[in-house]
Amino acid sequence: MQVESIQKKSLRITCISDMHGEYNRLNLPGGDLLICAGDFLYSGDNYQPTLEEGLQFIKWLNDQHYLTKIFVAGNHDLVFEKNEAQIRQTLKQYPSIRYLLNETTKIEIDGIKLQIFGSPLYVYHQSRIIQSFTNNDSSRSRIFNNIPENTDILITHGPSYGKCDENYKGISCGCPILKQVINKINPKLHVFGHIHEANGTSFNGNTHFINAAIMSVGFSRDYSRVSIHHTSFTWTPNNNKLE
Ligand SMILES: [Zn+2]
Repeated sequence: MQVESIQKKSLRITCISDMHGEYNRLNLPGGDLLICAGDFLYSGDNYQPTLEEGLQFIKWLNDQHYLTKIFVAGNHDLVFEKNEAQIRQTLKQYPSIRYLLNETTKIEIDGIKLQIFGSPLYVYHQSRIIQSFTNNDSSRSRIFNNIPENTDILITHGPSYGKCDENYKGISCGCPILKQVINKINPKLHVFGHIHEANGTSFNGNTHFINAAIMSVGFSRDYSRVSIHHTSFTWTPNNNKLE
């Protein structure tokens, strides 16, 4: 029966986040959709990524074997905030890539239509490192409360409160405003990173939460010595089954 075959359609998805300049070490399996939730560039105490490093990442993303690649920036990707016009101009050459800055995109893969919202926002704390996309409760509230109700996949750099958001001290660092919005609109997937040591997945009956940070450390700055991994799964949007 045709209806049954439509219901069985699934997508091969890989989620990554927080590569901090180490994305070349990833060996991704390929598939339908690659989602990156920010902090792909390295920035440190005395170092900010250059525009060239930003463009190199876009080139790497384009080379990955996925039909569509969707990404948001994070607090370490300052060049994406400062050089937005040039970044957007460059991205026009890469039709398989969608960059989401507090906006929605629609995709269709193999007859499956999905609406995806992406935002670089996270709960901001002052730090000695210069950060991008700084924000406060009111700016986050304005953006998050305008996430469309029919969003299937939500991508934010930071977690929502209480879901894969505990730092190494056991403190939940996620955004309570985002939690409220997610509980209202029930996206099928929420992909994020930022709190490295909380990587993993969780399910609340409506939404799969995927902290896709590729390394399980929060405080080490020597990322090149840390082992890395990606999160890949098969997802059937029709029944929200993830395996
Ligand atoms: Zn971050």
